[in-house]
Amino acid sequence: MRREYLPAGNPRPELLPDKPYSAGLSIDEIRESLGLSRIIKLASNENPLGPSPAALRAIAETSAEAHRYPRPGNPRLRQALAGHFGLPEENLVIGNGSDEIIDLLIRLKVRPGRDHVLACRPCFSVYGLQSRLAEAEFRQVDLHEDFSFPGAAFAAAADENTALAFVTSPNNPSGLSPSADELLRLAAGLPPNCLLVVDEAYMDFAEPLKMYEMLRRQPSLPNMAVMRTFSKFYGLAGLRLGFAALPPELAKAFLSARLPFSVNVMAETAGLAALTDREFLEKTLAVVRQGRAFLSQGLRDLGFQVWPSQANFVMARPPDHGPEAEEIFELLLKKGLIIRHLKSFGLNSHLRISVGLPEENQVLLAALAEIFNIQ
Ligand SMILES: *Cc1c(COP(=O)(O)O)cnc(C)c1O
Repeated sequence: MRREYLPAGNPRPELLPDKPYSAGLSIDEIRESLGLSRIIKLASNENPLGPSPAALRAIAETSAEAHRYPRPGNPRLRQALAGHFGLPEENLVIGNGSDEIIDLLIRLKVRPGRDHVLACRPCFSVYGLQSRLAEAEFRQVDLHEDFSFPGAAFAAAADENTALAFVTSPNNPSGLSPSADELLRLAAGLPPNCLLVVDEAYMDFAEPLKMYEMLRRQPSLPNMAVMRTFSKFYGLAGLRLGFAALPPELAKAFLSARLPFSVNVMAETAGLAALTDREFLEKTLAVVRQGRAFLSQGLRDLGFQVWPSQANFVMARPPDHGPEAEEIFELLLKKGLIIRHLKSFGLNSHLRISVGLPEENQVLLAALAEIFNIQ
């Protein structure tokens, strides 16, 4: 019999995901379960160089102020980002990771029971998880078979009830990026109710940047939002810091709807410091771009299919001879190497490997050569 009431200790079942967010394995988990002393983690697209030294100094200095609340809306960081990227301050918002921005955009835009959210398949799972929590229908358009962006099909799927359309560029997990021209064409063809949200979590690694990035173009595009994060390029994933350029009215609403102190003082000052730590950022770019080329070539030499990546990771599919993706993932784990099997993205035969330090990339390729019995 159907119950008419929701028992006091129960959550609303319709809001909960069938499959919760699946994070890459943590170093501690693996160290403990396998008793290995050295673990190399190439699973979550973090900065292999660690945090910026300037950010570490800023955190240490700020720690003495940890008893003070941050200023609501994080105006210092907002101003610094405006100057750094040449954007109007009124367009910028800061969030507890881009995850918080995704969540709030959905809640601010979608009318439950009426509107829906559009994204590609496969895509970053947070778009779908937070849509569900906001009682927004979540629709997906399949990527092309080669994982490129299905511009025409995506535009055709947007209708008068598409509140938000998420495009990840460069995409996770493929690393492919639609060109800025393609996104401009898409934005021009969307219905007037649809906000195009470009998630540029990995844009800092794209080359040439001008061909792909939308952030600096956002102010002239009234139906576009662009998100960035401090989690990857800036090396601050554990502090939770992201930002976005939004149409000004929406930015204003975002600021009033966000929990006032969701971004903490350490994250804010670390972000301010990392933003201008040029030596660290240049080193990061060099390590990622060289490592990406090295890993891609090494994997191809082992017979893997490798997709051309604009991000700090590569997606690869093992050759038909030899062990399958999941087994490779398990065998690497036993050797203390954590990569990502893309099962949770619905890609059973694909792996995603974050670019590590030169030596970490070498250890990974050597371990794979061993798995495939190649000396
Ligand atoms: C890593 C990642 C983010 C960043 O999320 P944060 O909450 O800022 O750590 C956003 N979008 C995609 C597609 C990502 O892969």
